Amino acid sequence: MELPTLAYPARTGQGTLSVNSCCVPLDSSSSSMTPLPLGSEETMTDWRTRLVKKKVLIVDGAWGTELINRGLKPREVPESWNIERPEEVHSVALSYINAGSDIILTNTFGGSPLKLAKKGLGEKTEEINRLGAEISKKAADGWSLVFGSIGPTGELVKPLGTMTESELVSGFAEQAKALAAGGVDGIVIETMMDLAEAKAALRAVKENTSLPVAVTMTFNKAGRNYATLMGVRPDQAAAELEKVGADIVGANCGAGIDLMIEVVRLMRPGTSLPIWCKPNAGLPELVDGETVYRESPEKMACQFRTLVRAGASIVGGCCGSTPAHIRALVIERDKLTH
Ligand SMILES: [Zn+2]
Repeated sequence: MELPTLAYPARTGQGTLSVNSCCVPLDSSSSSMTPLPLGSEETMTDWRTRLVKKKVLIVDGAWGTELINRGLKPREVPESWNIERPEEVHSVALSYINAGSDIILTNTFGGSPLKLAKKGLGEKTEEINRLGAEISKKAADGWSLVFGSIGPTGELVKPLGTMTESELVSGFAEQAKALAAGGVDGIVIETMMDLAEAKAALRAVKENTSLPVAVTMTFNKAGRNYATLMGVRPDQAAAELEKVGADIVGANCGAGIDLMIEVVRLMRPGTSLPIWCKPNAGLPELVDGETVYRESPEKMACQFRTLVRAGASIVGGCCGSTPAHIRALVIERDKLTH
């Protein structure tokens, strides 16, 4: 098996790895973005085997900003690029594989039929999700595992909203079956705010596939406490999602790695499952009409060990994180085992 081709766009600013201010300086080879050497024994194994071997698995970073860098317009539906611009989607996947991700996701976060229907793409649900899976699998080429991304529908379950649980389950089932048909190695249900919706998505995946499932929710700080917008606490999320069959629980998005450490500390006593977390590269700030994330790869790398000590064992980045952030995490992770 050959190493994936290096197709790495030149980066400046946030994406540049420079001297690491509080950890060991990142050596010059780290900024060259050469693919990490992988032994053949590390290919084609499941996530549990990889986790035991590597102690911590590194997931990918943000897809939205990477697609925008490749020309995605504000009104375009990112998932439509699986049909219209598959080479660009492939290039994002490859950039995270080249950064050293053990697991990459798919460009299907908004791919539930309930969400796609609002954009006039409901009929394309199967194609969009299957292609999203196939593109990431092709880029991974056995080097990384691929987890199919399932995001929230934006709808609330009755009585707070108009959706019934069975409507949600059947929508998520359609998405999950298409991701499975595209060959994903697992599913991640992410950015969930509402336990009812998270459980509906989990049920849909479990009833329609035999894939391992990670479920991650988004927590914000409210006073001294952390909760999702719908009031779910980290320990509560972890315990309840484990009870209904999640293989991995965790948190993604939010306000940066420092707050994520607190969330993971709170989540850890609630579950015996591995904790997956993908913090944003800081809190989003609006500067001259553009959303900016200020946490650098070095900042994430500095906090990596603390995050792992808090209980995380599968770590990546959410909004604002780049392949350079992921590369910095991979370098820190490799120091754990060497
Ligand atoms: Zn995010």
